[in-house]
Amino acid sequence: MLNKKTLKDLNVKDKKVLVRVDFNVPINDGMVGDDTRIQAALPTIKYLLDQDTKVILCSHLGRPKGEAKPEFSLAPVAKHLAEVIGMPVKFADNCLGDVAQTAASSLKVGEILLLENTRFHAGEKKNDPAMAKELAALADVFVNDAFGTAHRAHASNVGVAELLPSAAGFLLEKELKYLGNTIANAEKPFIAILGGAKVSDKIGVITNLLAKTDKILIGGGMANTFFKAQGYDLADSLVEDDAIATAKELIEKAGDALVLPVDVAIASDFSNQAENKVVPIGDVPTGWRILDIGPATVVAYASIIQKSKTVVWNGPMGVFEFPNFAKGTFGVAEAVANADVVSVIGGGDSVAAIKEANLDNKVSHISTGGGASLEMLEGKILPGVSALADK
Ligand code: ADP
Ligand code: MG
Repeated sequence: MLNKKTLKDLNVKDKKVLVRVDFNVPINDGMVGDDTRIQAALPTIKYLLDQDTKVILCSHLGRPKGEAKPEFSLAPVAKHLAEVIGMPVKFADNCLGDVAQTAASSLKVGEILLLENTRFHAGEKKNDPAMAKELAALADVFVNDAFGTAHRAHASNVGVAELLPSAAGFLLEKELKYLGNTIANAEKPFIAILGGAKVSDKIGVITNLLAKTDKILIGGGMANTFFKAQGYDLADSLVEDDAIATAKELIEKAGDALVLPVDVAIASDFSNQAENKVVPIGDVPTGWRILDIGPATVVAYASIIQKSKTVVWNGPMGVFEFPNFAKGTFGVAEAVANADVVSVIGGGDSVAAIKEANLDNKVSHISTGGGASLEMLEGKILPGVSALADK
């Protein structure tokens, strides 16, 4: 993985360890909702406790815009972490200043401290050197386990990494292994499945993956823009007029490698209750819109998936939020889960869909980072990773 130090390369024994985690989780009425990101950080935290360290955790939550706003407090996360890890978690209501210094210096070996939201300070997003210095002063070494923010150069992941001996935590290491190594050295046939609303969000991903994969299966609203580029009338379907020219270029460049749906599920309105039917592409009546791929497409895609060895998937095949238009996404998810493949799923909505289908433990890797996973699929090196110490 990119020749960066990982947790086991770092001498942590008896040290104060600052860990940047991604605890940006949903909070509803002061309670943690989906705690996947907290669970995903446990291996690193537990390893550090076993190494007789003092564990100081920091994270952002939401977008408080550089001000201390109570609705973005990490206090509920400290409570939730204490429950899942089965031990007390101390909380400092400021990640900087006397509060943080006192809390960090009074911490004992085997204890956990969570610092308040790093984005309560404007210096975080500016990667302010003074903020990085204050954070670094709290600890002896730094571990970055926050994959979800690794595509941002902020004080708590990039600034601090430049000031302390550093390494990637187990979660970051795993994400890089699957989204980096697996893709760079994929066993062939290697295919990508790309969907979601817009082509414009994913041009970088398509371009990068076209060079590496054998085929790209397209679905979701994104397919519409490709169809428009081929001259089809799509009635009221979502089409990005600005991206038609790019879609045309991609089709020409990719040839057979770019696979488009053969049938689509259409709706008389943008709602789950709308009248719906399956038609061949090209037969979308006036006033109707494409909301999913059709059953023949699911069968065709499943057969390609079964014959492959490596699959990377980003973007739902349809408006899966409407149960009547989730069949394409769930059908493809089923095919990926049941195939004998190394499968990597990235993207906030794609991950939500695979969890909703209860197939999340039947794939090789589910990424904890939406934006960060997209940038990895674009072939970019993430600033949070490059800032870490080399092996
Ligand atoms: P991810 O978060 O996995 O990267 P995106 O955010 O790119 O995925 O796209 C997900 C969104 O795309 C979903 O909200 C879904 O409803 C929407 N979408 C998928 N297919 C269509 C379609 N045919 N028309 C309109 N929206 C669509
Ligand atoms: Mg999304």
